[in-house]
Amino acid sequence: MKVDGSCLCGAIAYEAVIDPDRCVICHCTNCQINSGTGFGWVVHVQDRNFTLKKGALKVYETKADSGRRRLLSFCGDCGTRIHAQTPEEPDSFFGLRAGTIRQRAQLRPRQQVWCGSAMPWVFDLGAIPGSERQS
Ligand SMILES: [Zn+2]
Ligand SMILES: [Zn+2]
Repeated sequence: MKVDGSCLCGAIAYEAVIDPDRCVICHCTNCQINSGTGFGWVVHVQDRNFTLKKGALKVYETKADSGRRRLLSFCGDCGTRIHAQTPEEPDSFFGLRAGTIRQRAQLRPRQQVWCGSAMPWVFDLGAIPGSERQS
């Protein structure tokens, strides 16, 4: 599936080909801290088919909960996370941050990983009172 997206400030724009069947919610602690929220929502980039159309990504190297080296790419101006990859393992999961994809409403997570470190409330979101806009 061909998609395109951008960061919050618009300095970064990209196109990519993703596998919508490999759309994952990640509850690892790195995703919680790096996203500043409860979990990561990522989709696999097919055959490393990611093209930067605008701007330059900043890269932060970290160790994943799995112990593997991960390169986290983001916009240096607004901080939006764009993707994460393990460069020396070409077949490893190349995670494009689904929230930055313009077609994100079509992407439904198919799997959840690292559930052992999930926030205790996260599997119960539907039970929390909600409003259409800010309350
Ligand atoms: Zn930006
Ligand atoms: Zn994660």
